Amino acid sequence: MQAKTAFSIIKLTVISFIASALIACGPEKQSEAAGDTAVQKTYSWKMVTSWPKNFPGLGTAPERFSKMVDDMSAGRLKVKVYGAGELVPALQVFDAVSQGTAEMGHSGAYYWKGKTPAAQFFTTVPFGLTAQEMNGWIYHGGGLELWQELYAPFNLIPLAGGNTGVQMAGWFNKEINSVEDLEGLKMRIPGLGGEVLKRAGGTPVTLPGGELFTSLQTGTIDATEWVGPYNDLAFGLYKAAKYYYYPGWHEPGSMMELTVNKPAFESLPKDLQVIVTTAAKAINADMLAEYTARNNAALTELVEKHGVDLRALPTDVLNKLRDLSKEVVAEVAAQDPASQKVYDSYIKYRDSVVKYHAISEQAFINARDEKKAPL
Ligand code: CA
Repeated sequence: MQAKTAFSIIKLTVISFIASALIACGPEKQSEAAGDTAVQKTYSWKMVTSWPKNFPGLGTAPERFSKMVDDMSAGRLKVKVYGAGELVPALQVFDAVSQGTAEMGHSGAYYWKGKTPAAQFFTTVPFGLTAQEMNGWIYHGGGLELWQELYAPFNLIPLAGGNTGVQMAGWFNKEINSVEDLEGLKMRIPGLGGEVLKRAGGTPVTLPGGELFTSLQTGTIDATEWVGPYNDLAFGLYKAAKYYYYPGWHEPGSMMELTVNKPAFESLPKDLQVIVTTAAKAINADMLAEYTARNNAALTELVEKHGVDLRALPTDVLNKLRDLSKEVVAEVAAQDPASQKVYDSYIKYRDSVVKYHAISEQAFINARDEKKAPL
């Protein structure tokens, strides 16, 4: 009897332990189940862009972003990409995302200088930072925080979304032998570079990429810059202009932007937010890699197959443009407090990195000179 009682007591104890364990687990299990339900929610977003659908580099990067986000989220976040004009015109991306017509946009911040002049600094600055240096400022030099502060009143969260590297100076139908040759020139050149052209006596215009070829061919503009050989070949600009000048003094490392509608971003669970910001970082690096890998072959085709006359801007033209750029950029910065704040950060960062880059990247590229010592 005693043994049986003892067994019963043990049995009861075990049962009550299991019961209390189950009770203890209950709420946790329930909350996990509720968490599972929340995790399963799917989101279908739209992304508007300023580029023709699938345009090399600029247009393929948002498509890669979409694919990456879909894969990383196991289909919980779908982002449908629209080319320029499919949902909104190329230069209305900022407004569309700000107003929530689309949850995301892919474009260039310098197109929005009419909204907030400081935005220009987040694409590129004439004679400013290279792609590598720009990424340093954005991710480790306080740039991204300033950019997010600048866009917050517009309901937008900006993210770096690609970089073209150093661009080309552009396409011209006359030789540029002095800065005076820029006088009276009507040229498509957006952002701060356009302000410098204006100071040099030219007339800058901002047009979306899709309108460049026709504008140049019909004489609506006298000259245009776009990106570099890979992209300029794709638009056939060589059919409308004779001379192709380098280097792109006005765009030494143009960063593209991904914008996210703020309430839409905040409605995502934390893991999807991290997927969005991580995929943005991935395409930011990938776009530069694509341009680096493709530009040279495109340049060879332009020169050898299409007979493009490749020219270097004379040193004294570049020196004059650099002097003008210093004046103009400082003046633009002084026009509003937000621009001054961004400019101060940009210049402070630039001064902190250029000395080392002079004895590393620049010294090395000079030392590697293929003409002096081919591999
Ligand atoms: Ca450009």
